[in-house]
Amino acid sequence: MSRGENEEALISSKPHIMLISFPLQGHLNPMVQFSKRLISRGIKVTLVTTTSLDISSHADSSSITIEHFQVDRPSTEGRSSSDAIDEYLSLLETSITRNLPGVIEKQKANGCPVKFLIYDALMPYALDVCDKAGIQGVAFVTHSSAVFAIYYHVYQRALDIDLLDELSSVTLPSLPVLGFKDLPSYLSNVGSYPGLLTLCMSQFRGLEKAYGLMFNTFEKLEGEVVNWLSSKWKIMTIGPSVPSMFLDKRLADDRDYGLSLFKPDGDACIKWLDGKDSDSVVYVSFGSLANLEQDYMDEIAWGLLDSKCSFIWVVRDTEKSKLSEKFVEESADRGLIVNWSPQLEVLAHKAVGSFMTHCGWNSTLEALSLGVPMMVVPQWTDQTTNAKYIVDVWQTGVRVKAHDKEKITREDVTKSVKDVMEGTKREELKANALKFKEMALEAMSEGGSSDKNIDDFIAEIVTSSTST
Ligand code: UDP
Repeated sequence: MSRGENEEALISSKPHIMLISFPLQGHLNPMVQFSKRLISRGIKVTLVTTTSLDISSHADSSSITIEHFQVDRPSTEGRSSSDAIDEYLSLLETSITRNLPGVIEKQKANGCPVKFLIYDALMPYALDVCDKAGIQGVAFVTHSSAVFAIYYHVYQRALDIDLLDELSSVTLPSLPVLGFKDLPSYLSNVGSYPGLLTLCMSQFRGLEKAYGLMFNTFEKLEGEVVNWLSSKWKIMTIGPSVPSMFLDKRLADDRDYGLSLFKPDGDACIKWLDGKDSDSVVYVSFGSLANLEQDYMDEIAWGLLDSKCSFIWVVRDTEKSKLSEKFVEESADRGLIVNWSPQLEVLAHKAVGSFMTHCGWNSTLEALSLGVPMMVVPQWTDQTTNAKYIVDVWQTGVRVKAHDKEKITREDVTKSVKDVMEGTKREELKANALKFKEMALEAMSEGGSSDKNIDDFIAEIVTSSTST
């Protein structure tokens, strides 16, 4: 056998897992990262994507085989974003249901049959594909287990959202008492995105047929709710699913997720941070989707400037027109505005003292993993619940203002920056943040809770591969 043939034979003898991600940055990142963990344990991985993306040749992401079929987003022109989202979700379902079986079949024909399909939990129809293809399906949940549990109570009608109002508080098993606005926004603002609420509810459809559920979280972070969920399904906590060099360092050179839907201004950020004092910079990001209102953006801008702290602010190109020229001019010597940052590198930099975040679940886990205190400005979806946990349960951050899209003022922004950057409040938050950093590291290190769950899962795959 030639060397090439040898390698091919070796790959086709490996157990093969296919993953399919929801086409958003916050869903792709943890799945790609998890794929690298599988590859490092000798598993062949194929990632199915429906949006064009750039998998860099960085670290192990290059060993992921990509299968792609494009599903284009419909235009939003002349209709609400909610209608456009509904149409997109329907196109996605139709396309995956039609194309995924062929992708699975092709692997079999090539001598690399797929054993398990790990599908984004928001694509329950992938389970039907598994059924027909005779393979096992595993749901991969990219929000917190607390948020998943809340949706489950609504799905089961144990929590009736029609009976709630602004003054309600909600008591559910294994969760803290939640105020109305601590619930995910699709529940507290029911009419806002009905299609997305239906999507979140759909993840429970047929879930009893799944082999199990994977959560990008870790036991010491969400132990109680994970235990509660474990009484219903096989739950595997496998996180924080962030590049290895920021936690256990067992995957050599694994410093970024290795794929991006945006182009990062990497060098500019790090060079700029290198010239700053320790713990002196506020990092501000609202993630890949948020679309801030003009007033909101203005108050953040002037509040940051009034705080007198240095800052990096991620303002995506599509949002840049909302920054006033006056602000850009006046902040030039203290602020760096970028389209997209290498977020983990930035959070890990010694100059960064705090993170003003929209509380996307990945950003939340990344800040906890790197021990960075937060200022929370949740916008919508699960961010409101994540913010509640950051401030009241884990106590690693402060609120800029009471809740989601309520009006904030520049004074609120300045005050929260000062609270998190100086004085005794900072000391408390930092001490708590460092505790979680330690626990996150422990979970992903050899023998840690998440590491062990990944090992156990692989042991089962290997057993099932040899027994078929
Ligand atoms: N991110 C990044 N650079 C940025 C902003 C965000 O790399 O400038 C990454 C961030 O590290 C995280 C993801 O994009 O992994 C955003 O996911 P999250 O769940 O926090 O928010 P979403 O974008 O889904 O609202």
